Amino acid sequence: MPFRPEREAPPTAGLPLGLSDLTGGAPAPLTALAAAWLGVEQVQLECSGTSALTIALATLHEHARSRREVVIPAFTCPLVPLAIRRAGLVPRLVDVKPGHFDMDPQRLAEACSERTLAVVPTHLGGRTADVAIANDVAHAVGASTVEDAAQALGARIDGRFAGTHGDIGFFSLAAGKGLSIFEGGLLVARDDAWYERFRRVSRRMVRWQPVWELRRTLELAGYAALYRPLGLGTAYGRPMRRALRRGDLLSAMGERFDADFPMHPVGRWRRAVGARAFGRLPSFIAATTTQAAARVPALASIPGVHVFKDDGGTWPYLMLRLPDEATRDAVLRRLWSSRLGVGRMFLHALPDYDYLGELPGGDDVPNARDFAARTLTITNSPWLDDASFAHICAVIEAVVVSR
Ligand SMILES: *Cc1c(COP(=O)(O)O)cnc(C)c1O
Repeated sequence: MPFRPEREAPPTAGLPLGLSDLTGGAPAPLTALAAAWLGVEQVQLECSGTSALTIALATLHEHARSRREVVIPAFTCPLVPLAIRRAGLVPRLVDVKPGHFDMDPQRLAEACSERTLAVVPTHLGGRTADVAIANDVAHAVGASTVEDAAQALGARIDGRFAGTHGDIGFFSLAAGKGLSIFEGGLLVARDDAWYERFRRVSRRMVRWQPVWELRRTLELAGYAALYRPLGLGTAYGRPMRRALRRGDLLSAMGERFDADFPMHPVGRWRRAVGARAFGRLPSFIAATTTQAAARVPALASIPGVHVFKDDGGTWPYLMLRLPDEATRDAVLRRLWSSRLGVGRMFLHALPDYDYLGELPGGDDVPNARDFAARTLTITNSPWLDDASFAHICAVIEAVVVSR
């Protein structure tokens, strides 16, 4: 009997919005709630994580005019190099450690020089990267760190929040990334002096764009209405599966990104929605952490399967590394279109996105390509029930054992 899930699981565990998030009073401004929770002096809100990163880098560049390179892992979100270029800078790729998403410290040190403006240590899927090493390497050449915590709002390293270990950090509030106002980004800095500089650069780069804000408002209302088990099939699953059938993996992954991404202020209604939902974020993180802790052992016991884990991270999805690409692809052939929230993190290592063009350092990133080829993700949404999870484990085990 083929397994027939009755409902669509989202690819990541986003905090569901309720009707009560859409109207009524807000406890405090979203930025104040975020700052208090993260334990930082202030938080700057932008219209996306990408926009927040762009403003961070443009601000850094104003204070170090001769430095134009931004060092990033060769496996990360393709929006990151787009943000770097938007700030007038050059992305330089560093290969990751074998079998991992974090930058190889040796390669990182080799990539840094007096041309380096910033290094971007990157947390993925709630699993944390080594920011301390990135700080050491960056500071040794006079550069700064911008911690990419887009996928790690609420994760902790040694008890302190991810995103607050670098000189600057940012978080994404995009759909599916923890707390969402459909698109948004939070910017934080270790030294309070940066906030006034961020605001100045933001005033220069960000333009009020009512059409974009209207679009995001409708998208957020649609997200609130459809981010539930019955709506996800229509809003997310069906278009995704259609793209998969066409062989259009970029669309299936939602990775057709535009270099001309919008930079506009976030409107009052969306800010209030985020503020009203914010209070539920800690308990949602606790619940998804408990669920992940219960599910990781079953996956980790499958021979040849590596499950990424750490103490203190968040759990939007479970990240797995399989023995080889053929095995990973065989699993995805059976599960990607199954409605069970199984998929890939990013489609490629950065040099393999045609639309990104030439990327310095991109000719020598075998580990990043290997990581892209061998990993898959399983949603950690509370809507993926135990029977569905057991089915996923059984399929993976059957595929791995048969090879
Ligand atoms: C999503 C993401 C970004 C960009 O954030 P947006 O809010 O989508 O613009 C940056 N880095 C990583 C690792 C991401 O996953």
